[in-house]
Amino acid sequence: MNKMTTTAVQQFDLLIEGKMNPSLSGKYFDCINPSNGELFARMADADTVDVQIAVSAARLGFDHGRWPQMSLRERGEFLLKIASLIRENAKELAELECASSGKTIKHTTFIDVPTAAETFEYFGHLSGKLINETLRNSTPVLSVVEREPMGVVVAIIPWNYPLIMTAWKLAPALLAGNCVVLKPSPMACASVMLLAKLIAQTGLPKGVLNIITSSRPQAGQELVSSPEVDMVSFTGSTKTGEAVMAAASKGVKKLTLELGGKSPNIVFADCDMEAALGGSMSAIFMNQGQMCTAGSRLLVEDKIYTEFVEKLVARAKDLKIGPADNFETEFGPLVSVEHRDQVLKFIEKGKQEGAKLACGGGIPDLKGSDGAYLEPTIFTNVRNNMFIAQEEIFGPVLCVIPFTSTDEAVHIANDTKYGLAAMIWTKDLEKANKVARRLRCGTVWINTYGAFLNEVPFGGYKQSGFGRELGLSGFWEYSQIKHIATDKTPGGRSLVTSWF
Ligand code: NAD
Repeated sequence: MNKMTTTAVQQFDLLIEGKMNPSLSGKYFDCINPSNGELFARMADADTVDVQIAVSAARLGFDHGRWPQMSLRERGEFLLKIASLIRENAKELAELECASSGKTIKHTTFIDVPTAAETFEYFGHLSGKLINETLRNSTPVLSVVEREPMGVVVAIIPWNYPLIMTAWKLAPALLAGNCVVLKPSPMACASVMLLAKLIAQTGLPKGVLNIITSSRPQAGQELVSSPEVDMVSFTGSTKTGEAVMAAASKGVKKLTLELGGKSPNIVFADCDMEAALGGSMSAIFMNQGQMCTAGSRLLVEDKIYTEFVEKLVARAKDLKIGPADNFETEFGPLVSVEHRDQVLKFIEKGKQEGAKLACGGGIPDLKGSDGAYLEPTIFTNVRNNMFIAQEEIFGPVLCVIPFTSTDEAVHIANDTKYGLAAMIWTKDLEKANKVARRLRCGTVWINTYGAFLNEVPFGGYKQSGFGRELGLSGFWEYSQIKHIATDKTPGGRSLVTSWF
C-alpha cells in the first residue's frame, strides 16, 4: 500500500509512431518516489502487443521511411533540437529524474540533465565531420567503403542514469540512420517519458523513435527476441546481459553489452591525500553507490592505510542524508525499498564473512520517513576473495583492502570477473601510467573519478561487457560496413569474364 500522495500524480503514455499513446489495455503502473514512499507518476504499461506494435513501427520507419536516406546533417539537426528541448525543460526533467531514482536534485540538475543535452549536441555536431572512404587500388577497380545503419535497434537501459543512458544510446543510433525502440527500466522512467513527450513535438518522422515502458519483466526479452530487430544495445546487470546475449543469438543480432562492475580504486602512499579522499568518496557514494563504475573495492597502500581509512570513515559519517529533492542533501535514498533490502543482505553477508563494519550498515533514523534510505557503509578487514569483494552490490558499500606493493595492487585489482573501470591515486604519473596499462578494464582514471567524455569511448572488458558507447567508436557500433567495387576495365577483367 502506497502512502498518501502530497503532489499531483503525472501520467505518461508510450511513444509509438511519433505520438504519445496509452497501452492497448489502457493499464498503467505506479512510480514511487524513493525519498518518501509516495506515488508521483503513472506510466503506461506496455503489453506484448504494444511491444510488437513499437517494433513494427520502427521496422516500417526503417524499411519505408526517409530517415535512413536523410543526410547526416539533417539527422544531426534533429539531435540538436532534442538537446534544446532538454535545456528548455531542464528543471522539470531534473525534478522527475530525482523523484524517480532518488538521485539528489543537485546531481540531476548539475550532472544528469546537462550531460544528456551535451551528448545530443556532441553527436548532432558530429554529422559534419564524418565522411565515407574511397580506396585507391592498383587495379582499375573503384572501391567505395560506406557505413550504413544497422536497421531497427532495440535499446534497453537500467534505472541508475535514465536520462544519460537514453542520450548515450539514442544520439548515436539515430544519427547513424537507425530506427529505435528504447525501453527504460520500470524502476525509474518518468524523466525519460517526459523527454519522449518532448521529442514527439520535434516532427521526427513517424516510427523513427519509439519509447515504451512496461512493468512486465518479459518486455525486454520480447524486444530482444523479435525477428524484426537487427541490433540490441543493452545496458544493465551482467546476469540480465547473459539472458540478452542468449536471446539475441536467435536471428544473429548485433549486440553491445554494457554490464556490471566491481572497480578497484587504488590509493598509493604517495598520493595527494585530500584529493584521493575526496575522489574516493565520490567513487563510492555518488548516486548512493548505484554506479556501474563505482570504486567499490578500495585498495590502500599499507603505509597510509590507517590514516586514510580513519579520514574516509569520518567523512562518510558526516554525509548529510535526506530527501533527494532538497538541494542541501548530499546522500539521498536508494532507488527503492526492495533494492535497499537487497543491499542490506550483502551487508549481512559481509559481517558473516568476517569483514569489519567501520561505519554505516543500517537504516538511518530519519524520523518517520518511508524512504529507501541506507547509511553510507565501509567495511575494512576485507579479503578480495570474499563474496562482498567479488559481487557487484550496487549500493553505498565500500570494501577496503590493504596492499604492500604495486604488483600486489595490480593482482588484486585484476582478480575479478569484471573489467569496467579503475582509479589510481599517486603523484608519480610514470608509475600510474605503467599500472594503468596492466589493468584489465576499459577505463582507467588517474587522480580523478568519473571523467566521462562524449569524445571518448566507454565500455567494459571481461564480464563488464563488450562494445563501446560515446566517441566515434560508440557511433560506429550502430552502423555496418559496405564495400562497393566498380570495375572500370573495358570489357571487364578477363579473369572474371573469361574464367569459364
Ligand atoms: P537489470 O539488468 O536488472 O535491468 C536493465 C534493463 O533490462 C531494465 O530496463 C530491465 O527492465 C531490462 N530487463 C530485465 N530483464 C530483461 C531480459 N531478460 N531481457 C531484456 N531486458 C531485460 O539492471 P538494473 O538493475 O536496471 O541496473 C543496474 C545494473 O546496470 C548494474 O549491474 C550496473 O552495473 C549496470 N549498469 C552498467 C552500465 C555500463 O555502462 N556498463 C551503466 C549503468 C548501469
